[in-house]
Amino acid sequence: MTPLLQAQGVTKHYALAHGLGERLLRKPVRLVRAVEGVDLAIGRGETLGLIGESGCGKSTLGRLLLRLHEPTAGAIRFDGQEIAHLPEPALRPLRRRMQIVFQDPYASLNPRRTVREIVSLPLALHEKLRGAEAERRVGAMLDRVGLARAHLDRYPHQFSGGQRQRIGIARALILHPDFVVCDEPVSALDVSVQAQVLALLRELRDELGLAMLFISHDLAVVAHLAARIAVMYLGRVVEEGPRDAVIRRPAHPYTQALLAAVPRLDTPAVRQHVAAGDLPSPLAPPPGCPFHPRCPEAGPRCRTEIPRRVALAETGHAAACHLHDGGVG
Ligand code: SF4
Repeated sequence: MTPLLQAQGVTKHYALAHGLGERLLRKPVRLVRAVEGVDLAIGRGETLGLIGESGCGKSTLGRLLLRLHEPTAGAIRFDGQEIAHLPEPALRPLRRRMQIVFQDPYASLNPRRTVREIVSLPLALHEKLRGAEAERRVGAMLDRVGLARAHLDRYPHQFSGGQRQRIGIARALILHPDFVVCDEPVSALDVSVQAQVLALLRELRDELGLAMLFISHDLAVVAHLAARIAVMYLGRVVEEGPRDAVIRRPAHPYTQALLAAVPRLDTPAVRQHVAAGDLPSPLAPPPGCPFHPRCPEAGPRCRTEIPRRVALAETGHAAACHLHDGGVG
């Protein structure tokens, strides 16, 4: 079956703004290579988990797939339609079908608007719906995410972090989208609240048949929701496949390092175990395999040649590593 969303070679480079001194010296523009040639596909009702360290390009990729940013290169097909470079007026009818749940519910909610206004705004914008029918839809959505209708006239600061994320979820789902990017939706929440919000997302996904890109630095969180997992390193997807194959038989040395760092990858004590050294800057990615300065398996070939993605017949997943494509010598 044709995937709901398909990305091929999606790339995003940002030009870094020059300071006055650099402009006077006419220094060449420096590029931040945030996302490099990503291929992925997400089927209807399917959840793809996207995992990697902070700064690896996960959130940028999520925003590119929603066309909140325009890619520098590559193709994005949503329900059969090419959207990578579609102008905004042509994108508008598709926007209601593609939504996002942000990491920080407090920062993503307008503090001067009530819950009623926040959740009903997409209805007004995309369906021109106001009045009693909008009120009915908002009330039903609040019921569904576990918020009391009595709180419709409250402001975001009057809620807990978990409740605010429920408001963010209600806003994202009020239009019944087909595809939702969940960008670290529980990482700003207390651990005790995370499980409740994850359970809610899972229920809503199954009930509404949502396709999801679920972004997280926390493999345990991703594994809870995703049937397939993609691992991202310095702007590239380095391994991808069914969850159990990726977790039980990781093929890429970076995935192996991530798994050794479970459960949480963002705490300083654990990050040192992810792999020796820091994530290199996307301003100056290493030549060859981007992981080679940190990779315990690196050989001469890794320093000069970018590994291509290779399908691994035994497990049904794919990895971009010379170990699986002729060796590192
Ligand atoms: Fe390590 Fe080489 Fe594989 Fe890159 S290509 S992950 S450096 S073994």
